[in-house]
Amino acid sequence: MSNEAARRGLMLVLSSPSGAGKSTLARMLIASEPGMELSISATTRPPRPGEIDGREYHFLSREQFEQQADRGDFLEWARVFDNYYGTPKAAVDAALAAGRDVLFDVDWQGARALRAAAPDDVVGVFILPPSIEELERRLRARAQDDATVIARRMARAADEIAHWAEYDYVLINRDIDHTFREIVAIIGAERLKRIRQTWLGDFAASLKLPI
Ligand code: 5GP
Repeated sequence: MSNEAARRGLMLVLSSPSGAGKSTLARMLIASEPGMELSISATTRPPRPGEIDGREYHFLSREQFEQQADRGDFLEWARVFDNYYGTPKAAVDAALAAGRDVLFDVDWQGARALRAAAPDDVVGVFILPPSIEELERRLRARAQDDATVIARRMARAADEIAHWAEYDYVLINRDIDHTFREIVAIIGAERLKRIRQTWLGDFAASLKLPI
């Protein structure tokens, strides 16, 4: 007799250099895992065309952000370039307590901060490209051959890759469907961990032999 509602959710933190397939994998996970939701960060940067408040980000003024940060409303927050970004705490707490999992698409700094804030809840997965040539090829395809942009992205990618060993799982994305299946297997095993099956104590107690 498993009690799904009593399970504690997990925080799946997915990082990779850009071009390794992270966004595609995140989209596939949200589409196929009904128990998983994407964490929506708050930011002070203005919305880009097509971005909707509450979907890509919660767009806040600097005053609103600072107020919420002072109140301790963020699980973690950081300044990136001239803007602030933060993970709202209440939504994550509510999801985990209700047995839902939360997916975070963040870089190594965000991952490190989340792990520090919630060490028992975070499952870190790092996605590596199959080779540096393949990563460069993918970044070139995106940057439409602007050499400076490509060089900057390659430097950022190298910085991100340097942090691979801070993650619980490291996957080499040679084939997107294969990597996706590996992540689903990780989620399956992590959901079964004793600390997440909060109903087990009562269940085990009910298994006493009749005297
Ligand atoms: P963008 O403005 O392009 O959407 O994101 C810029 C950077 O902010 C990215 O590197 C992204 O990982 C980071 N970022 C987005 N949300 C958060 C967050 O909640 N916390 C932290 N620490 N970084 C974030």
